[in-house]
Amino acid sequence: MSTAAIRGETNFEAVIGLEVHVELSTQSKMFCGCRNEFGAEPNTHVCPICLGMPGTLPVINRRAVEYLCKTGLALGCTIATDSKFDRKNYFYPDMPKNYQISQYDMPLTTGGGVQLPSGKLVRLNRIHLEEDTGKTFHAGGHMAAAEHTLIDYNRAGVPLMEIVTEPDIASPEEAEMYLGQLKAVLSYLGVSDVKMHEGSLRCDANVSIRPVGTTALGTKAEVKNMNSFRSVVRALRYEIERQEAAVRAGERIVQETRNWDEGRGLTYSTRSKEQAHDYRYFPDPDLVPLTIERETIARWKAEMPELPVAKRERLVREHGLSEYEAGILTEDVATADYFEAVAHAAKSAKQAANWLLGDVRRLLEKHELTLATTRMRPQQLAELIALVSAGTISGKAAKEVCDVMVATGEAPSAVVEQRGLAQTSDTSEIQGLVDAVVSANGDSVASYKAGKTKALEFLVGQVMKASRGKANVDIVRALLLERLG
Ligand code: ADP
Ligand code: ZN
Ligand code: MG
Repeated sequence: MSTAAIRGETNFEAVIGLEVHVELSTQSKMFCGCRNEFGAEPNTHVCPICLGMPGTLPVINRRAVEYLCKTGLALGCTIATDSKFDRKNYFYPDMPKNYQISQYDMPLTTGGGVQLPSGKLVRLNRIHLEEDTGKTFHAGGHMAAAEHTLIDYNRAGVPLMEIVTEPDIASPEEAEMYLGQLKAVLSYLGVSDVKMHEGSLRCDANVSIRPVGTTALGTKAEVKNMNSFRSVVRALRYEIERQEAAVRAGERIVQETRNWDEGRGLTYSTRSKEQAHDYRYFPDPDLVPLTIERETIARWKAEMPELPVAKRERLVREHGLSEYEAGILTEDVATADYFEAVAHAAKSAKQAANWLLGDVRRLLEKHELTLATTRMRPQQLAELIALVSAGTISGKAAKEVCDVMVATGEAPSAVVEQRGLAQTSDTSEIQGLVDAVVSANGDSVASYKAGKTKALEFLVGQVMKASRGKANVDIVRALLLERLG
């Protein structure tokens, strides 16, 4: 193909592969007994092992191996009964040993994949286990201009799994879907907090472009430093456009690492990509090869919880929810559990779904809460649903009650009582109001009788107003119809 054709008329497509790092929520670190906890005072969860003192010996954290393998099982990966740990050598103060213990050529899992809602399968290449690095803070100026660097080693040695896809992702939107599905699975398994803003889920994106219709892979750039799903999408969009513009201008894409700058909305080159041999990998002589018994794998399989896809399908099948409703309600395990508890207690999945996807969602946002942090219990929401069904309160009053419940966790009956929101179904009381409204609105009565059915709604509204919103609207309508005969 001529250069002119490439620059001008060619359409390009993106090829994306993601490397997702997930901190495992074990009690202790990967190779020592230090606590694995986010947000502690800097350098308080450290010991001679994770500080890399000479003469110390690492010990493999069983739970981390279990968490990784369970993730592998959930994603259809092959678990290696034999694997090993290697040293990845590099010189940067975030790793006090001057190497990171990782897995090079014998990862714990290979193969597997993540199914997107569209049905497309994003194949996985591998999942391996390693230790996280310390965190550096450049202080007193921006990045290279910083006066000094502070280091917190609390994170050094935290168990980290790296999930690597094949270059199967075709767009920023697919990348976002992949991350959403992966996050859901990890949250169901309970193997990680999966909080991107706290860094327990981090994503590096490898991107290249190629002319549509070709299959050879182009030269890729690796983009780092995105701290939300949103910024992954933005960074990918930017990077794809940058590469297209470069190719059209006759430039060659170079293999490199680029940082995403959230504020400026662009990626910039940080270094040319290192090759595997730059890391001088070799098996860690302090750790014996890792053998996992088949029986252990079978036991982990048996312990597997219901996973998002299965739960989504079950909610559609058993509760008659739409794919859309089931999709949102199963996005994370906290929401799914909450929904099932409400649906069970209220004996109505449809109502539970309506409340959770509607008013509860809106009110949680208003109070800056989530289902995990609100004090409103599923049982209480079910009671509120029952109060509406029994006609004790109107649908409108229920929204007001729910607002208080979400914020305070008070019982619905208590809120109804405090605010005097109980609906009246007292027929003689309502009859009095109906009579008064009918005699005061002769015009509307006449036009109703002349066939203008809209006039009835006006009269219903007048009675409701007279009752200060507390009359049971079904009774109001029935009595009016009777009266107007
Ligand atoms: P490296 O040796 O640079 O680490 P790998 O082959 O291990 O590269 O791949 C790392 C990630 O990059 C994987 O997710 C892979 O799918 C993705 N990837 C590899 N080649 C390309 C490419 N040409 N374009 C986009 N993504 C790619
Ligand atoms: Zn330690
Ligand atoms: Mg690689």
